[in-house]
Amino acid sequence: MSATPAIAAPGAGQPLGVTTIERRELRPDDVLIDIAYAGICHSDIHQVDEDWGGSIFPMVPGHEIAGTVAAVGSSVTKYQVGDRVGVGCMVDSCGECEQCRAGREQFCVKGNVQTYNARGFDGEPTYGGYSKQVVVRDAFVCRIPEGIGLDVAAPLLCAGITTYSPLRQWNVGPGKKVAVIGLGGLGHMAVKLAAAMGAEVTVLSQSLKKREDGLKLGASDYYATSDEATFDTLRGRFDVILNTVSAQLPLDRYLGLLAVDGTLANVGAPADPMSFNMFSLLGGNKKLAGSMIGGIPETQEMLDFCAEHGIGAEIEVISAEKVNEAYERVKNSDVRYRFVIDTATIG
Ligand code: NAP
Ligand code: ZN
Repeated sequence: MSATPAIAAPGAGQPLGVTTIERRELRPDDVLIDIAYAGICHSDIHQVDEDWGGSIFPMVPGHEIAGTVAAVGSSVTKYQVGDRVGVGCMVDSCGECEQCRAGREQFCVKGNVQTYNARGFDGEPTYGGYSKQVVVRDAFVCRIPEGIGLDVAAPLLCAGITTYSPLRQWNVGPGKKVAVIGLGGLGHMAVKLAAAMGAEVTVLSQSLKKREDGLKLGASDYYATSDEATFDTLRGRFDVILNTVSAQLPLDRYLGLLAVDGTLANVGAPADPMSFNMFSLLGGNKKLAGSMIGGIPETQEMLDFCAEHGIGAEIEVISAEKVNEAYERVKNSDVRYRFVIDTATIG
């Protein structure tokens, strides 16, 4: 075991503070990573606040990890000391079930092991990326291509893959009209990725405050959902709508914006249930879908796609002491567009 400084939440909804945690000794297939940057995902806040129930404390959040390899276990061949790598939401899975074999480890039938707020197959709690070092099985480590800075790469490991995967799944590309609801961490990545895939992108934000940014990120249209007229103007327009909002939404209104055969794909994960009128789907063969992160092969594909298209996240780098302030700003939709912790400032 080796001690590493980390930022932890001691209990539900409590402020985070610096502490020290233990990382396990390297197993043969483990990689030790010196973490350079860790993104702050709204899921971190949901879990610290125990919105989804079952949180494990103390909790070291963080599943947007970018850094360099510091050491490798005896059987690791894929990575060497000094390699630029990233880790996302998962650190283990059974590796044998149909889903794992298909590279969809997020749906492992035994349950994947989440990067934090979970227990490994050894029963030990997992601690995430708000720390200086992490030990991860080599199969759950991705390569960050040269050309993407580690700071702007960190958010790709969750916000990037979580939006890339449904955009691919619903065949977003040239000739497709796509709307993104919510211009936050996930939403701004969705705009960049969908534009790079060749689609025509519209942002649906609560207000027009971030309009200029949305257009710079690659959107061709930007509408405020606080304006009633938006839902009339855009009726029946979109092939795909990606909902990245962390709170409940009036689903019927958004289903009304879909074209015939269109899909409302949801990645936002509010704790409370939402309801909708079945006729909102029936009138137009519409689909209401969900999507959870992406598998490891697809995460690598996304990173390579980002390198090819010069895509990184828009970030605000913060020091350890600013984490609680950053959480408040994310809760208030006051993030442009991802907070990233410089782990050199921890401890
Ligand atoms: P975020 O940075 O806070 O962005 C969410 C955006 O939603 C806000 O910036 C805001 O955009 C909009 N919004 C917030 N509250 C709203 C409300 N009450 N009504 C309408 N719009 C609202 O969060 P994030 O990190 O992108 O995460 C978004 C959600 O995705 C979270 O629930 C998170 O847990 C979930 N998530 C899911 C997965 C998955 O695998 N499915 C993975 C990662 C995260 P505007 O200001 O533009 O309106
Ligand atoms: Zn996340």
